[in-house]
Amino acid sequence: MKFTKKQIDRYSRQIILKKIGIIGQKKLLRSSVLIVGAGGLGSPIAIYLTALGIGNIRIIDKDIVEISNLSRQIIFSSNDVKKNKSSIAINKLKKLNPDIQFKSFQKKLTKKNIDQVAKSVDVIVDGSDNFRTRFLINDYCLENKKILVSGAISRFDGQVYTFNFSKNKSPCLRCFMPNIPINSDDNCETEGVIGTLAGIVGSIQANEVVKEILNIGETLCGYILIIDALKLTFRKVKLNKRSDCYCYDK
Ligand SMILES: [Zn+2]
Repeated sequence: MKFTKKQIDRYSRQIILKKIGIIGQKKLLRSSVLIVGAGGLGSPIAIYLTALGIGNIRIIDKDIVEISNLSRQIIFSSNDVKKNKSSIAINKLKKLNPDIQFKSFQKKLTKKNIDQVAKSVDVIVDGSDNFRTRFLINDYCLENKKILVSGAISRFDGQVYTFNFSKNKSPCLRCFMPNIPINSDDNCETEGVIGTLAGIVGSIQANEVVKEILNIGETLCGYILIIDALKLTFRKVKLNKRSDCYCYDK
């Protein structure tokens, strides 16, 4: 891969970084990421990953844009209401960066289709809004030794966790939460959420994706970041691999 003058200009502020450089930027352009959910988290994740040059981006979301989404799902505009989220998002992202190959899936991620949707990607970024999908992605990434960067938001509270299953010893979501919690139907619709929190958590997820792909800095792998946007505290809590967990002998 040889950069054009335009590409050198486009990525110049990253290429100048010692930890990225030309080699790192090429690595980003060769990498592929699946974003699950084109919602509050998916919006900033998709915008940043497109802008900074992740070469292959897939987005899966079956939903249509609703007016109540617009307070936090910043990739959409008022005239997108009632249109399909994943395809609208990709139409906008194409204008942001023509270097990127996109693929949209207008369906719900299921046990049946996850392999077809996610097989060729390096990283899955989870911006879903329900535990069933979170566990499905966790188990798939564990089985297939992929990198998972997950985020969650509710009210003024956010969480981010990263599991790099290509490295042994990574704990998994089930080490933290063995089963789907009883109040698992609670989401932004019932609990409410502050719009800016989607930007904070989604941006941290996008940053984690870059670090994992380039293997730079210290990622959150093995920790859960707990964010309180009211007090503005960020707590990193160590997550140990549990000996009775499904992931233990993986
Ligand atoms: Zn586990």
